[in-house]
Amino acid sequence: MNNFKSGFVTVAGKPNVGKSTLINALMRQKIVITSDKPQTTRNRINCILTEENHQMILVDTPGIHKPLHKLGEYMVNIAVNALRGMDLILFVIDPEDGVRKSDMHVAEIISKSNIPVILIINKVDSIKNMNKIKDAENKIKEVKSDFIKVIETSAITGKGLEELKNTIIETLPNGPMYYPEDVVSDKPSRFIASELIREKIFFLLQEEIPHSTGVVIEDFTERENGILYIRADIYIEKDSQKPIMIGKNGTMIKKIGQLARRDIEEVFESKVFLDLFVKVRKKWRENENMIMNTMSFKSDLKG
Ligand code: GDP
Ligand code: MG
Repeated sequence: MNNFKSGFVTVAGKPNVGKSTLINALMRQKIVITSDKPQTTRNRINCILTEENHQMILVDTPGIHKPLHKLGEYMVNIAVNALRGMDLILFVIDPEDGVRKSDMHVAEIISKSNIPVILIINKVDSIKNMNKIKDAENKIKEVKSDFIKVIETSAITGKGLEELKNTIIETLPNGPMYYPEDVVSDKPSRFIASELIREKIFFLLQEEIPHSTGVVIEDFTERENGILYIRADIYIEKDSQKPIMIGKNGTMIKKIGQLARRDIEEVFESKVFLDLFVKVRKKWRENENMIMNTMSFKSDLKG
């Protein structure tokens, strides 16, 4: 095992550039949730890819953005702190959206560390004007220029991913297996279930509702008949959001449940009974305890 390489690779960037999609693509399975809306990822999640001679821990983080509430502050702190002790940073930008103030802000934070960085220009499949790729790279280089490599990728078509993976492996130091080889995520099963429910809410509902939703798993038990019983409370902030979350004759909550159950069954390879309850907690995103509950920080802190 002398030549075994391993290390922590954080994926940084503003919201919605494709960080989580890129991680799933490198993992060749869905570990973290994604959506077409910014700020879907709220927590730090270690995704572990173990192959014969290496183990890379890909750290998914919330995008670095200007926080509007306490939950947002937590998310940004998590993202910034996730840069500490890393072996490599993947800095992801979206050239179609262009390099904005928020990207420059991330570049500044990153350039203060001495960690090697790969610049990833993602979503190149969606680019119509190819000049935008070079423009984005040049703009970023005004703030930080010493990337170990610049790679154009598409997390959707797979373009550039082989090159990216090889570059990551080359950069990793010799090191131990940090996680057993069959472990793919550092998060408990409850957390993964709550994330899959949250993803469906991001998929099916619009505007403020998904952002103000928190999911808490209250029961997660394997029953004698082999069925996994999961009860989840879905928290929203306003009474007026409740009929939307539930839908006419319960159609929306049923749809959320159906889609989430399908994914959870796949992940846990088990039949699942999913019981969902919608609850209103005014301004829960300002409430430390509620933030802890919905991000399953309590179980994280216990170890
Ligand atoms: P994150 O906030 O940075 O984690 O972004 P997500 O991974 O949640 O992705 C945001 C949106 O961009 C989703 O709708 C993805 O499907 C989309 N996306 C991610 N990568 C690509 C890509 O390479 N090409 C295209 N066309 N869309 C992408
Ligand atoms: Mg994400």
